Amino acid sequence: MTVSDSTRTGDDQPLVRALNVMKSFHGNEVLKGIDLDVQRGQVVCLLGPSGSGKTTFLRCINQLESIDGGRIWVDGDLVGFRDDGGQLHHLSDKQVAAQRREIGMVFQRFNLFPHMTALENICEAPIQVRGTDKKQARERALDLLRQVGLGDKPAAYPAQLSGGQQQRVAIARALAMDPKLMLFDEPTSALDPELVGDVLKVMRDLADQGMTMIVVTHEMGFARDVADHVVFMDGGVVVEQGSPADVINNPQHERTRSFLKRMR
Ligand code: ADP
Repeated sequence: MTVSDSTRTGDDQPLVRALNVMKSFHGNEVLKGIDLDVQRGQVVCLLGPSGSGKTTFLRCINQLESIDGGRIWVDGDLVGFRDDGGQLHHLSDKQVAAQRREIGMVFQRFNLFPHMTALENICEAPIQVRGTDKKQARERALDLLRQVGLGDKPAAYPAQLSGGQQQRVAIARALAMDPKLMLFDEPTSALDPELVGDVLKVMRDLADQGMTMIVVTHEMGFARDVADHVVFMDGGVVVEQGSPADVINNPQHERTRSFLKRMR
């Protein structure tokens, strides 16, 4: 493709730019040319039926999957490739790890280390990966625990916490690496309904603080209230995208309308 592959974008450029992203698994085309710009400080919600490719797209941004076609830039850097004067090369594992460190990801399942306390879970990556001083890492972890409403739980093990509390620790853990982008993959869908609100509140607070976020969610209230931009995907394509008022309240496509009807 002929796009300029080395555009180091400035602060006025999107933090994330996806152009014609394609991904197949064993011949099954899951992403069929996804385009998306995410501006700095924006919250983008990805909506769509199960199997439409939302998780795969998030995983491509974070390089948990490699793309088969198109390009993704995060903060001006080509994700998954290096540009040598117009020639593209795949990145080394080390370069991929460096890019991934800039991106926080929160999964449906919280994936905390069961043998570590909440505090230790949060400190682990800053100490091991960044080489942060232990005392400094602990202080920052305590701050983050307070930020997610768990200032009294540093010594709790995951098994002693509710699902919602574990998910808030997982968010704090991702934030401990000072990511420039946070990806959320259905962060509340494994939770009992009464625990969902606390997690969404933490995410709202983060959005208010200006964090750039891409959120796969079925929480229409959150998407309507918090998202700056909503993307409806179906069958590996973006069917429509725009403001929540446009996409959720006034969808133009029948596929979007029937999905939203099922969500009510
Ligand atoms: P969504 O998040 O919208 O539910 P996914 O991205 O999880 O959709 O999945 C899209 C399609 O890709 C599904 O058909 C799924 O089975 C398939 N898929 C996802 N990951 C893999 C994988 N690692 N191997 C094979 N197929 C996969």
